[in-house]
Amino acid sequence: MEIVKPVKRNVLLNPGPATTSDAVKYAQVVPDICPREQEFVDIMTGVRKDLVKIVHGDPDKYTAVIFTGSGTIVQDACVNSLVPEGKKLCVVNNGAYSARMVEIAQYYHIPCVNLEFPTTGLPDLDAVKKALQDDQDIAVVATVHHETGTGVLNPIKEIGQLAHDNGCIFVVDTISTYGLIPIDIEEQNIDFLMSSAQKGLGAMTGASWTIGNIQEIKKSKNYLTRSYYCNLFMQYDFFDRVGEMHFTPPVQTMYALQQAVKEYWEEGEIARWERLTKCWQAVHKGLSEIGLSSVIDKAIQGHLVVTVKAPDDEKFDFTQLHDYCYERGFTIYPGKMFGLKTFRLCNLGLITENDVNDFFVIAKEAFAEMGYSFPVS
Ligand SMILES: *Cc1c(COP(=O)(O)O)cnc(C)c1O
Repeated sequence: MEIVKPVKRNVLLNPGPATTSDAVKYAQVVPDICPREQEFVDIMTGVRKDLVKIVHGDPDKYTAVIFTGSGTIVQDACVNSLVPEGKKLCVVNNGAYSARMVEIAQYYHIPCVNLEFPTTGLPDLDAVKKALQDDQDIAVVATVHHETGTGVLNPIKEIGQLAHDNGCIFVVDTISTYGLIPIDIEEQNIDFLMSSAQKGLGAMTGASWTIGNIQEIKKSKNYLTRSYYCNLFMQYDFFDRVGEMHFTPPVQTMYALQQAVKEYWEEGEIARWERLTKCWQAVHKGLSEIGLSSVIDKAIQGHLVVTVKAPDDEKFDFTQLHDYCYERGFTIYPGKMFGLKTFRLCNLGLITENDVNDFFVIAKEAFAEMGYSFPVS
């Protein structure tokens, strides 16, 4: 593709949307098209197949159901569509994004067992096992693969096994790992996972999807319907019969997604994971040079987000740090942990360890400007 004019490149270290390629940005500039045309339906079909393939899904067992919206829309669709009447959802909750699924259940008045664990650690699997054994009304177990709010990576295969041992389906929010950490959906005991275009694939906001077990989606046809726009079976059924979304798809976003998927295959699953791990290592190296450390134990981090303990003194000013970096093309993000002064450095997108090293040159200047010498603490 001919790139007309390079776009200013920002290094996004926030938890999504992520840094994208110029080819992805320009992929959106296409002749106007009615999405009901066969040409567009073919694009949707191709992208949906690729989305299943990225997580090594067997196309006879799993399918991609896309919704127009940010990632939360698939959390919404999975929670509201997959719990039969009189049954319960159980959320293994150790962070902000699993807490969001609990909240969605509350909004739909779906009975929910909220298994809360500290946000700084892993869930206690014995407690999960016991909760599932004790309550036979639980039909769906949900959790988050990588808690983007902290950087904790959860043991989904083990949780999925516990879910299946107790006859439950297993739903996982993989929104901040899909396309980044290699995932084999079936091997990880997953019935439904979630993803969103603007995160791991480095595409544009506006399309999110679940890769789901076709048999389970078909069963859900007879479950209580709680949403019209976000009903999983309805959307699946339309894709299955007509090949397209029930309502207007995010047309230009789909072209960008198609390009991002192409770039995913070009880079390769393993090479991508290695590139991101190098970014994460560069984050830790840079932090230690400044004299800062991570809140979460390195051993349970997903290599994608570092929650940094901010200096606990008068000199530290997040806004000043943010603005100094932002003006120089680097975006950082506040923490999402209660009661602790933190900020986050995330490496989800199309960035390299060199970008991270360049960021730390700027960050050091910002700390010096705040009056620090190194190490800061
Ligand atoms: C980004 C993200 C979401 C979705 O958030 P939106 O604000 O709707 O994009 C959900 N779960 C996880 C783990 C995420 O990282």
